[in-house]
Amino acid sequence: MAPDGQTLPPDLHQAEPIPEAARLAIERMLISGDLFRYTAPKDAPVSLLEAEFAELLGVRFALAVSSCSAALFLSLKALDLPRGAKVLLPAFTFAAVPSSVVHADCEPVLVECGSDYRVDMADLAAKLPGAGAVIISHMRGHTSDMDEIMRLCDASGIPVIEDAAHSLGTLWDGRKIGTIGKVGCFSFQSYKMVNAGEGGILVTDDPEIAARAVIMSGAYEENWKKHPGLQNSYGHWQNRLPLYNLRMQNLSAAVIRPQLPLVAERVARGLANHDHVAAQLAGNRWLEVPEPLPQEVRAPDSLQFNLTGDWTDDEARAFQRAAKARGVAVQVFGLSEGNARAYWNWQFLGEVPELPLTRAMLMRACDLRLPVRLTRPELDFIAAAVLGAIADVKTV
Ligand SMILES: *Cc1c(COP(=O)(O)O)cnc(C)c1O
Repeated sequence: MAPDGQTLPPDLHQAEPIPEAARLAIERMLISGDLFRYTAPKDAPVSLLEAEFAELLGVRFALAVSSCSAALFLSLKALDLPRGAKVLLPAFTFAAVPSSVVHADCEPVLVECGSDYRVDMADLAAKLPGAGAVIISHMRGHTSDMDEIMRLCDASGIPVIEDAAHSLGTLWDGRKIGTIGKVGCFSFQSYKMVNAGEGGILVTDDPEIAARAVIMSGAYEENWKKHPGLQNSYGHWQNRLPLYNLRMQNLSAAVIRPQLPLVAERVARGLANHDHVAAQLAGNRWLEVPEPLPQEVRAPDSLQFNLTGDWTDDEARAFQRAAKARGVAVQVFGLSEGNARAYWNWQFLGEVPELPLTRAMLMRACDLRLPVRLTRPELDFIAAAVLGAIADVKTV
């Protein structure tokens, strides 16, 4: 609050404090020096995190690693896809996702996404024949139609990996997102629901995938004995698979564990905040907030909306500038220079195909961070700034 009672522009990148319990656990570790997940015979913080996360998600196996990108890479390796296998993924995702496919010696095939940010089912169906795997990025927590995706992929025997980096706490028809495909991958990077700076976790019910991923994450010699699961599978794969050393260390687990009990409350607050701002934007003729799918209960910590009606690129850029001048950073994905979520910037893929549906969406889709800690006056400030910026540009 400013001295005159006005709300100041909120800082949309400031994180929440880490719970006090993390400080005590880290203090103990700094004294003992016990930072490596496999030093203790049992109950290392990383192992406890895996057990707690598996319980939270209701899955058999969880493997904590260095990032969600590492989890995606290990998922592809654990599926034992042949070199050069086609892996389908949405064209609207973060650059690290096609990168994980390249890293796993597979060929990324980009699938169109529509104006609701979700995978275009007709394009997915058309590109599916011959694919080795499908990665579904629930981008910014927007869930693609998992019923239809699982029906199509199951009918062709093609495994689905859920990139649920930004979807912890999202429900699909009552099921937890990240547990519907063969493997689910989550992120603990600072801009996600649980903040460890960096970190990721892979979940699966498949003991063979779990065993292979555990070994490849860097469970050298007989460290796999510290993981639950089929000990004979681990024994079989030991020394037959490379060790990529993508392990999580105990300090990260100590930061993550006390945040897990807070997830449900953060999810509820994030959704309430999102809907509060969305309700104020509703009815403006120059923008539209896409609805969730009927099966979906979202867990957002950001808001996406489309500029609708007649907008030139220059007007859309003017809107970005006007919002910034009013203290709120709004990015049009395709109009912010070098955006890592605009597929035409992924030059490491070589020649990227033209994807008109995704391009049209990216050129008018706006991205607004909405950290769950924001207060009602701050949310009202943000909504007023967005509407004010629209009025600055669209004066008629
Ligand atoms: C953040 C994010 C990633 C990457 O996660 P890291 O843990 O930083 O590797 C991948 N996919 C989506 C959809 C994300 O939001």
